Amino acid sequence: MKHNKNKKKNKNIPPIKNLEDITEKEQIKQIEVTKYITQAFTTLTGNPRLFIPDEIHKTPLRIYKAYKELFECAINHYKLPATTTHNPDENSDTTSLTTTFNTTYNGIVAHINIPIASVCAHHFLPYFGYAHLFYIPNKKKLGLSKIPRLIRYLAHQPSSQEELTDFIIDKLDEILKSKGIMLIIECIHTCEAIRGVKINNAITITSAVRGVFRTNNNARLEALSIYEQSKTKLSI
Ligand SMILES: [Zn+2]
Repeated sequence: MKHNKNKKKNKNIPPIKNLEDITEKEQIKQIEVTKYITQAFTTLTGNPRLFIPDEIHKTPLRIYKAYKELFECAINHYKLPATTTHNPDENSDTTSLTTTFNTTYNGIVAHINIPIASVCAHHFLPYFGYAHLFYIPNKKKLGLSKIPRLIRYLAHQPSSQEELTDFIIDKLDEILKSKGIMLIIECIHTCEAIRGVKINNAITITSAVRGVFRTNNNARLEALSIYEQSKTKLSI
């Protein structure tokens, strides 16, 4: 069998117990990726026993699963999802994430303090914080619960915060086609906090502005005033 042959070929990797009910193609992918993760650590440390103790025996598999979740958007080739697969808390909701509703509302919709987490493309270390979205509908609005789920999904890729901010606002406006849209993201980067310069209180803030928020000062100031009054203090 193809799968057995693959297992035999990779006999140096720790056996993976309790493989879930997944396809053979997925099992092969899982075995390959966990093998490389094991090899990376053993090459780095020169300690082939690193993964032998019970508690970290399954660590390469756990890393594989974490990456699968954290890179979901990249794995899906950056396409907008119909639904996301890594929302265990919300898997009863099967409505498409990109479904919009008609609206006659003409004011600012502000959805702020949305938790966001991504992985920096430079170090593959997480950065996390909050996203704040403002838009003025052009006859279409997104369900409120869709916004955080879309942002969470879109951030699941190796990224830099600057480009991620543009990427998310463009994808959201692909759905909304709003009169104006603004996105502020504020994050703490663990690659800056725990290594290198080791500063754990620096917050990186990025913003992307489109449509009426760019051309009309009053609209932008109104959105910024909402942000100033409501923003969450970020710290680790
Ligand atoms: Zn980094």
